[in-house]
Amino acid sequence: MSTQSTQPKPVQKESSGGAFYAGRGVTKTPMISHAKGIFFWDTDGKRYLDGSSGAVAANIGHGNERVRDAMIEQAKRFSYVVRTAFTSEATETLSRMIAELAGPGFDQTFLVSGGSEAIESTLKLARQYAVVTGQPKRSKVLARMPGYHGSTLGAAAVTGDPDRDQMFGPIMRVMPKIPAPLSYRIPDGYDVHSYADHCADELERQILAEGEDTVLAFIMEPVGGVATGALVAPNSYYSKVRKICDRYGVLLIFDEVMCGAGRTGTFLAAHHWPDALPDLVACAKGLSAGYTPLGAMIAPNRIVDKVVESGGFLHGHTYSGNPLSSAIGVAVLSELVNQNLMENAQRMGVILRQKLNALKDRSTTIGDVRGIGLLNAVEIVEDKATKAIFPAARQASYRVSEIARDLGLHIYSRRAASGKFGEWFMAAPPLIITEPEIGL
Ligand code: PLP
Repeated sequence: MSTQSTQPKPVQKESSGGAFYAGRGVTKTPMISHAKGIFFWDTDGKRYLDGSSGAVAANIGHGNERVRDAMIEQAKRFSYVVRTAFTSEATETLSRMIAELAGPGFDQTFLVSGGSEAIESTLKLARQYAVVTGQPKRSKVLARMPGYHGSTLGAAAVTGDPDRDQMFGPIMRVMPKIPAPLSYRIPDGYDVHSYADHCADELERQILAEGEDTVLAFIMEPVGGVATGALVAPNSYYSKVRKICDRYGVLLIFDEVMCGAGRTGTFLAAHHWPDALPDLVACAKGLSAGYTPLGAMIAPNRIVDKVVESGGFLHGHTYSGNPLSSAIGVAVLSELVNQNLMENAQRMGVILRQKLNALKDRSTTIGDVRGIGLLNAVEIVEDKATKAIFPAARQASYRVSEIARDLGLHIYSRRAASGKFGEWFMAAPPLIITEPEIGL
């Protein structure tokens, strides 16, 4: 008789095939056993500090018991009904909470399962609004190079990444791009301010070149994510962009998938520039802080009403407004507010950047430290004087992530668009981090 079934199964220590994921930086991924606060542990008992909140998602930290209890409570009652026919208290509460936190002018929330779905929703709502208000020629969505808006085809079409365009361009309609107002790699003859001004002027130039009545929207990350490494533009850029969009009837869409939900110290990153609020917002990651897949489009009545009156929004997903995800979202946002985590993100962000800048002064390979709140990036270079990027073969940013992981620190890194725009890792720990923990 075989004894196989009575043998204890060895604990699996790392990924072993049978599933594959995005990226190429990490070849063998450790298996995680449990997590608490800003830390998680693998099955060998090794501890990791979550320096990038996973993929800049775990805003309230791991193992939050109030979130777990809310999840259990909702699961005990029911987990799913289809949103087009039924709703739940959790779905209604979350929708209201998001709209209230987003503030005046953001009246309605459309719940989805993640960032790419939230982006798709903004693109489709914008298009449907244009059609039902008698502007059917408007179909082009301008975006920035570099930029990242997600993996689905609509989101990829507005993503500014030549590698992805080359690969996926033939199966989608790649949208026109204008330069992002980079603050570290500025072309000769400009400084940060004049280059940002130039980039905003490029928006106007591109609208006119495309034909102003054909441009539907302009989409941008108000604070950059991995594509630009936490890029923040000078204040004047935002107001200039807003005015240009108004001048030509172009909708302004902010991708706050990464920078929203409190990450930069305000609920929306847009709140840092109140004179330049967008028409539509896509939000995700921090809304559920990694406890469940969740995203949202936030939109004003003036747009939603027109679309609803015309017969309804021609877009939705099986898990739109999922009750279980909604209950988790309510618990996560309650933690964000009740623990003053946005204020903590502002204070800890200042301290984190001070420490990273001190490190930069001593380092030969840290070229730039930038960001706002707890959305920060550390740009690495081969030569600080020339800002030269490491050759691709060195896979420098991935190597930094791997070395950090070996040392017990998780950092999310990116070599953007074949390295043409630089490479960096994200310094974006959970918003619950304390000053002593930043020193760890
Ligand atoms: N937009 C931005 C700015 C992002 O950072 C991401 C993901 O990292 C997305 C969109 C896509 O979100 P998701 O991966 O949840 O589909």
